[in-house]
Amino acid sequence: MDVGVPKETAPYEKRVALVPDGIASLTKAGLRVIVEAGAGVAASVTDAMCRDAGATVAGAGEVMGKADVILKVQPPSVEEARTIKQGAILISFLQPVRNRDVLDALTSSRVTAMSMHRVPRITRAQSMDALSSQSSIAGYKAVLVAASNLGKLMPIMMTAAGTIRPSSVFILGAGVAGLQAIATARRLGAVVSAYDVRAAVKEQVESLGAKFVEVQLGQKDTETSGGYAKELTEESNRKIQGLLEETLRGTDAVITTALIPDRPAPRLITEEMVKGMRPGSVIVDMAAEAGGNCELTELGKSVVRHGVTIIGPYDLAATVAANASQMYSRNISSLLLTQVKEGRVHLNLEDEIVNATVVTHSGEMLVKVSAG
Ligand code: NAD
Repeated sequence: MDVGVPKETAPYEKRVALVPDGIASLTKAGLRVIVEAGAGVAASVTDAMCRDAGATVAGAGEVMGKADVILKVQPPSVEEARTIKQGAILISFLQPVRNRDVLDALTSSRVTAMSMHRVPRITRAQSMDALSSQSSIAGYKAVLVAASNLGKLMPIMMTAAGTIRPSSVFILGAGVAGLQAIATARRLGAVVSAYDVRAAVKEQVESLGAKFVEVQLGQKDTETSGGYAKELTEESNRKIQGLLEETLRGTDAVITTALIPDRPAPRLITEEMVKGMRPGSVIVDMAAEAGGNCELTELGKSVVRHGVTIIGPYDLAATVAANASQMYSRNISSLLLTQVKEGRVHLNLEDEIVNATVVTHSGEMLVKVSAG
């Protein structure tokens, strides 16, 4: 069976779905890998490296039209989806709520689409958890983006010209990305505090040397059984806003990471709060693609509002393409290899991981799509 790896077409996307290690492990399992020419170049993977690992290098048409399994990072565009062979398998990030038109195209070509967003967070699937691998990288990079947009130093600096106080960094949302952001900001010498609706993360935040900012919500059920945040009541949101207003006034850099699965990102930072921040401070809104945690965020842009720089990046993992691709390649090949027997992919829809990730199969959409 042929596994195709196309070049990503989203303008900011530098990652590639398979690196040579992944190519070698799929080839060893008896699959043939076809990589589009130049697919890995932006992630420091040359065509020659792909060939050495056992892949064939071909044009885009051959990859999309011939492969039985397509491995991608970003969801395909509708046009790309239409070029995938009837009945093939596609594995990529794919959010039914945001990619409805793509799902329709995949359904009509009877493609079995599996979303890396939906890999369950169970022990057996840890090596396939691309949300975690990419979020860790993005959390690290967000702090570097904040630091390089701040007219201040992160660490304390004592010189003959005087002592510079360390910057204060506030992390909103202490999940995988937030915890990595805390660790990175601490390594740079900043004074770090963080908040999350899931009270369970307090200990993790403190163990990284940051202060956990507490607010009594009254609402007890802030977490799903899967460990994700729930959408909050209006009253809880009001309490958080009071806390944020006060915290942001004394903060130099804010990294926001708050997400609710399959819902728009919670709007936590209002224009009024931005007005109250110090001039020259920076917000990096990692939830920008999900609508943003700050109401002034513009996706893909850096804007200055009321003296505050507000950055709304696309997935920052794409900007650390070599390592992000290396980890993603491990995630996606681990998932695929669980379904390979004697050089062929036999999807077991009863398997807990496959069952959770499949979003279209045999001409049917298997997930409910309700936006908003
Ligand atoms: P996420 O990306 O969905 O959300 C990011 C963070 O934003 C979360 O910590 C969430 O609680 C927080 N948040 C949401 N709404 C908020 C609000 N209104 N105010 C403040 N914070 C808000 O989450 P994630 O980082 O992918 O991980 C969530 C959970 O999954 C964590 O408990 C993590 O430890 C767990 N996890 C488990 C595994 C595993 O068991 N294999 C792997 C990865 C993550």
